Amino acid sequence: MEAGSATVIMVQFAIFARSLETGRGVEIDVTETIASTRFETVIGLEVHAQVLTKSKMYCSCSAEYASAEPNTHVCHVCMGLPGALPVINREAIELCVLTGLALDCTIAPFSKLDRKNYVYPDLPKGYQVSQYDLPLCQNGTLVFESNGEPVTAGITRVHIEEDTGRLLHRTASDGSDISLVDLNRSGVPLMEIVGEPDLRSPEHARDYLIALRQILRYIGASTGNMEEGAFRCDANVSLREAGSTEFGAKVEIKNMNSFRAVERALRYEVERQQGVLEAGGTIEQETRGWVDARGVTVGQRTKEAAHDYRYFPEPDLPPLALGADIVERIAARLPELPAARRARFVEAFGLGEPEAAILTGERETADYFESVCESAPAEGRSRLAANWILNDLFGLQRERGLPPDRMPVSADQLAGLLDMLEADQISARAAKELLAQLGPGETAIDKARSLNLLPLDDDDAIRTAALETIEAFPAAADDYRNGKKAAIGRLLGETIKRTGGRARPDAARAILEELLNSPS
Ligand code: ADP
Ligand code: ZN
Ligand code: MG
Repeated sequence: MEAGSATVIMVQFAIFARSLETGRGVEIDVTETIASTRFETVIGLEVHAQVLTKSKMYCSCSAEYASAEPNTHVCHVCMGLPGALPVINREAIELCVLTGLALDCTIAPFSKLDRKNYVYPDLPKGYQVSQYDLPLCQNGTLVFESNGEPVTAGITRVHIEEDTGRLLHRTASDGSDISLVDLNRSGVPLMEIVGEPDLRSPEHARDYLIALRQILRYIGASTGNMEEGAFRCDANVSLREAGSTEFGAKVEIKNMNSFRAVERALRYEVERQQGVLEAGGTIEQETRGWVDARGVTVGQRTKEAAHDYRYFPEPDLPPLALGADIVERIAARLPELPAARRARFVEAFGLGEPEAAILTGERETADYFESVCESAPAEGRSRLAANWILNDLFGLQRERGLPPDRMPVSADQLAGLLDMLEADQISARAAKELLAQLGPGETAIDKARSLNLLPLDDDDAIRTAALETIEAFPAAADDYRNGKKAAIGRLLGETIKRTGGRARPDAARAILEELLNSPS
């Protein structure tokens, strides 16, 4: 193992690069920080997350919509045909409750589904089956870290609902604009996670979302994929005079599809509202849309135009009575959550906070790390495993375009490689070569043998290489014999090279010295 500062810098760099990828990047740009101390920023987020089930919320159609041909995963229920009767997806309810439990919510012993009525071409029934006054989960908290400080934000509620279809805007052959309707997504289960207005900066909002997404991925409730629309966020923001206890009028921002977009949109909106207030104006409650390409929010509708959804209980579905036994059974599905796992990694494996945060970023990575550590309780294994994962494996993962939860080699393969390193059976350089070549199903040791990466333990072969070297570099050999001991460096490098880099330096040096010192 090459220890020392180079490795430390590599690890630091890997952590930084990884941070940017997972959205944990801490951008320190003084020009962009909000200067005013006259106002306090108040933010509350509403997140819609697609619930990770095989079938839809109220029918047995596949919930897969991203890759399917339009209108192939549909039936009379999700197409909203008259007379069709819905059936509740049990797994979707369980995952919603599991989310509530992970967020320390109270699970309602009695809950119901309600119709939210509105008209839009992507909503074939003319209503969405959602939850109004009796959501499944209420009164939770999310504790996350922002700028190195813990922040506690309230979770108002988590409820279950269904997604709409999708509109595809096209140009027809006669040049006119048309919209096509794809109902594959219609009826896909969603949960809405409503947060309290407890966030005080755009950075808080970003870090809250990152933490929430990580929890959803850990518990298997959602992929949290923002680009694919499986994790959408509406951000509510208002300003108030510093010291005031009353909230100002809020603006709701929609249409952001990355963590960075949420942060940028909020920054823009805070500055816009500040400008209005400082000029003596007032903020009107409204909905604004983020236009990413232009980096601005634009007004969409004001309070007067707000919908009246005419909520009423869904008559075709029974209410949900979740007894303590059911909730307990669901709670048994909860894995160790990211914050607890991070703390344990620092404690049990002696990792630094940033390393622990990255190694627990994905549940699969954390499992992988633990399994590599458990396979050999050798001292220093966790340090070695952490370095290899952070530098080499993440590097390969990126190179090969693998998703963040998939490692380029199995935990057993990496453990085999580290066993060899620990036993000084392979050089760090050869181990890196081995890692790059290791294919599925191959063991580290066999592959190292077949690639000739194991050190040469054949003294005769080393002696042959040493003799050839002395013959090829007589001047260096004479220098050594005449007392210039440093001249052996040249001969040593050449000898090792002649063994294909496989001779151990100490063995080669001993043989060279023996040959040079013996009278010829
Ligand atoms: P609405 O009546 O518009 O649905 P809610 O009170 O239900 O508003 O809150 C919706 C979301 O807006 C929540 O996430 C909440 O935290 C947030 N929110 C409410 N009031 C404010 C405010 N004054 N400033 C910022 N966010 C707010
Ligand atoms: Zn269907
Ligand atoms: Mg509301």
